[in-house]
Amino acid sequence: MKGAGEAGGAQEASGKHRPPRVFRGYAFDLDGTIYLGGTLFPGAADAVARIRGQGSRVVFLTNNPLHSPESYAQRLTGLGIPAEPGEVVTPLGVLTAYLADRHPGRAVLTIAEPLVDATTPDGGLPDCAAMLAALEACTGARAEAIVGKPSEHMAAELLRRLAVPAGEAAIVGDRLSTDIAMSRSLGTTSVLVLSGATTEDELARSPQRPDYVIDGIAALLPDEPGDRDEPANAATEGSAR
Ligand SMILES: [Mg+2]
Repeated sequence: MKGAGEAGGAQEASGKHRPPRVFRGYAFDLDGTIYLGGTLFPGAADAVARIRGQGSRVVFLTNNPLHSPESYAQRLTGLGIPAEPGEVVTPLGVLTAYLADRHPGRAVLTIAEPLVDATTPDGGLPDCAAMLAALEACTGARAEAIVGKPSEHMAAELLRRLAVPAGEAAIVGDRLSTDIAMSRSLGTTSVLVLSGATTEDELARSPQRPDYVIDGIAALLPDEPGDRDEPANAATEGSAR
């Protein structure tokens, strides 16, 4: 209906278009993509169920280090998207794996968000970069790795969990600087949802060009039944008569 070329993959400056196919693996950002605060976006549970119904795999990503994969899985399940802890990738999990791999057996001093109790002039909490700069200034040491989105560590972990080639996976998220940037560096297909942090104006001004842009997760899957399982749009055979 929207006459504008649906040409798969073409970059229209500001046009929204949904991916024309179902991928074998999906990595979903959570806040702003699957839900906002405690509320599931309309169509989210259905989209994930349809993806799984086609035999594709799903993982959920967050940059929030405050909750465990178990608690995210529980939360998702409670909201109507059944999920296992193994399907949730958090920076803490990635960090633990990183430390076990590169610094086995070493003592770890954890500095986590609840310890932070300062506010910025804007009223928000100083984020990772501010804490990191403070630590580096005090200790003279340099961070050897940052493991959250859009790092290569998070990217590698999500692809490992999906167990599909990058070309068969899509990252779906609401932030250009993390979700979309990570997708670009990983070589997966990127899908920006406008249901969260990014406005159409910001998208238009950004040098980041997601492969696809949709209003929200409800628009993620192709309209017509995919080439796999759904019983083709078998018109109205019975009533045609
Ligand atoms: Mg988000």
